Amino acid sequence: MKNIRAWALPLFLWVPLLLSLILSPLSWGVAIWPAALGLILALWVGWHRQQLLNLTAWFQQPRAVLPPLAAGIWEETFAAGYHWRRDQEAVHRQLTAQLVQLRDALEAMPDAVLLLDGRGQLRWVNQSSTRLLRLQWPEDMGKPLRYWLRTPQMQRFVNGESTSSIQMPAPTNPQHLLEGLRYPLADAGALIIFRDITRIRHLEMVRQDFVANVSHELRSPLTVIRGFVETLIDSPFGGDAEVSPQLKLMEQQTLRMQSLVEDLLTLARMETAGVNPDECETVSVAALVDDYLCALQDRIRAKALVLALRMDHGLGIFSLNVDLGSIVRNLLENAVKYTPSGRRIEIVWERRDNGLCFMVSDSGDGIAPEYLHRITERFYRVDKGRSRQLGGTGLGLAIVKHAVERYQGCLEVQSELGLGSCFTARFPLQMARALPLAEAVSDP
Ligand code: ADP
Repeated sequence: MKNIRAWALPLFLWVPLLLSLILSPLSWGVAIWPAALGLILALWVGWHRQQLLNLTAWFQQPRAVLPPLAAGIWEETFAAGYHWRRDQEAVHRQLTAQLVQLRDALEAMPDAVLLLDGRGQLRWVNQSSTRLLRLQWPEDMGKPLRYWLRTPQMQRFVNGESTSSIQMPAPTNPQHLLEGLRYPLADAGALIIFRDITRIRHLEMVRQDFVANVSHELRSPLTVIRGFVETLIDSPFGGDAEVSPQLKLMEQQTLRMQSLVEDLLTLARMETAGVNPDECETVSVAALVDDYLCALQDRIRAKALVLALRMDHGLGIFSLNVDLGSIVRNLLENAVKYTPSGRRIEIVWERRDNGLCFMVSDSGDGIAPEYLHRITERFYRVDKGRSRQLGGTGLGLAIVKHAVERYQGCLEVQSELGLGSCFTARFPLQMARALPLAEAVSDP
């Protein structure tokens, strides 16, 4: 329909013109008709061009005011253009309002929010960034964030080359602790959020101190109670058939409480202080395994467990002796505790391509997959009754995980119900140290 109307004017002009041309030799001079035709064509093209210019001029106006009056197909074109511009302006207003709302919400946040482009330069920051990081806005727009966060660790965090979170003292107040989180964006940029975790850290410290203090306070009375119970057991009074079982139970429960207190203190020590390299030494894992197997030998013999050892005696590890002792003791104790009589336990200490590995694998009953991710939580036991009965505190694997992670290592657990479990403590290769031959211990 539009096409017909568009051509209505030209047809209206063309038909009489063509007719006149055909008839021209009969009544007019031959030359006048092409000239008249050219003139009419020029007028027609000129009119359309003028409408097109009007349309362009109208579109270039910043706001959708009413379009100029036009005739024919141009009237419809202007009307369609007007409706389109009005719709676009409504969408634009709505998007702008949403953007302002979003920006206001980000501005109101107590956390520092920073938008970086692909080169790590500041694209936008909120008010809190100026307060927490001493940035100035908009003066610092386009500057690289590494101007403010200069340590290599920070640079790796900003470039997304290391972990997606980091902790650091606030540049404006070193008493305050900030936690930075990095979220990569689709356009190769990143959203970085710094939040003040001073209060959370303080509460965490209060909790750690409380647990450590209570455990410490319980240590001495428990030692006294245990001493008296042992004296009573050894005395003639302890030989009494009625009293003896009760004294034995008291001794057993006191021992349980003592190991609980010791485990809590071990965890508290690991949480409160990092590893001081000055206190580290070259530890022989093979010697530690020998010592703990000696301590466990009665239980190993009683259960007739079969041990298979593959130990690299010349391989030492640069760490705190007490940490490696906790790892070895807890993994060996668990393997002995949870492996049924007559089955096999394999212990491996060796250097692999991906790290130094201490592996304890047993052919016990295994752990169901739904419990696997929780077994390193404090006090988490798959079978509470069985663990208590076997003298477990529920803290052993939590200690192992903490101890391994103190050295940027990781604890890997694989287990299959009915087949057994394999615990691997993996340490960075740079912790490896050669042991002098004298310290290399042979298998027991
Ligand atoms: P617990 O003192 O109870 O042994 P742990 O933290 O050492 O505490 O272990 C947590 C739980 O993981 C245990 O209660 C037990 O259910 C499970 N577990 C640990 N080691 C083994 C193992 N070698 N085989 C089967 N289950 C295990």
